[in-house]
Amino acid sequence: MSLKEGIKVASQCIDAERENLKALSLELWNNPELGFEEIRAHKLATDFLEQRGFKVERAYHMPTAFRAEFTNGDGPNICIICEYDALPEIGHACGHNLICEAGIAASIAVKSALEANHVHGKLTVLGTPAEEGGGAKVSFVDKGVFGNIEVAMMVHPYAFNRTFQVYLGFQELIVTYTGKAAHAAASPWDGINALDAAVACYNGLSMLRQQMKPSCRIHAVITKGGVRPNIIPAEAEVQIYVRATEQEELKLLLERVSHCIVGAGKMTGCDTEFQYAPNPYAAVKHNHTMGLLYEKYAREQGIEFPIAPNPLPGGSTDMGNVSHVVPSIHPTFYIGTNSQIHTKVFREQAGTDEAQQYTLVAAKSMAFTTLEVLSDPALLSQIKKEFEK
Ligand SMILES: [Zn+2]
Ligand SMILES: [Zn+2]
Repeated sequence: MSLKEGIKVASQCIDAERENLKALSLELWNNPELGFEEIRAHKLATDFLEQRGFKVERAYHMPTAFRAEFTNGDGPNICIICEYDALPEIGHACGHNLICEAGIAASIAVKSALEANHVHGKLTVLGTPAEEGGGAKVSFVDKGVFGNIEVAMMVHPYAFNRTFQVYLGFQELIVTYTGKAAHAAASPWDGINALDAAVACYNGLSMLRQQMKPSCRIHAVITKGGVRPNIIPAEAEVQIYVRATEQEELKLLLERVSHCIVGAGKMTGCDTEFQYAPNPYAAVKHNHTMGLLYEKYAREQGIEFPIAPNPLPGGSTDMGNVSHVVPSIHPTFYIGTNSQIHTKVFREQAGTDEAQQYTLVAAKSMAFTTLEVLSDPALLSQIKKEFEK
């Protein structure tokens, strides 16, 4: 049993599988699939793990999720998470092909060290669909999937390296306004204009933005607003995202948002209905003990972590919900562009050889972190102590 030997074996495993990992990643990148429809990605990931000796449960709770395990003796159960869904129209612009690759690379590396008996314990690999909307991890948390797991981790490609990036709590709302159709020229006074309600709601939210904290975000689109200018729209729909760093803050903001929604309906005489979408995302609670360990291993491989004294919040992730039930990390890693995620430039970069290099460093950092947690009970109890605080 030796951590140092385990790290060497794990590193060699990733180097030896470099081409296969790249092929997996590019296959995903070339064939982007939306959340809950990741059939091809799911098959590729589960085949890859099964062929390398993992016990794989395909269709774990949902058709495109999976759970894979490998155990060597008694020890803690560490969870490495993969995502593989893409975005509509711009494909893998969030680089989830690289998340899947990094998760699988780290997993086979940890397995090789477990197999060589350098560490003891259990590795659980979870394939979690629909991070971009739907949030399989939220359902997994609700179903108690993380009940026997000690710590969880994943990495995300990004415009920069940051171990403790701020991810906001997130709630989606769908608003429907119902008015009354009328001929817009012949008898507009007979109509009740649902589009006006949607516009008033949107404008209300825009004004509210001026009075909210910089750590909060609101964005909305009008998804239905009529069919022809000469028909007063009888139905309109607004989709709203509300985000904040703290759950309490999010609750308060949601209440103010609801006033904008209801007020707009009243102003225009429309009937108002709104729903909170299921599976809201919680803000990410980073485990610093584990995060700093990850960062140490990344630095040793030449990665730099620029100092950001006042980091601006990024997006949101269902990994936030996981981080509230088990100690977790979700570091971001640079892949060779300063462009933000969800852009075409980022998508192109996620398919390059340059991105491969960084992805495997992130995978190794995750694998080495896992090995150290498996081999050091005192470290694990420190991680848990921080979490309980
Ligand atoms: Zn994304
Ligand atoms: Zn993402």
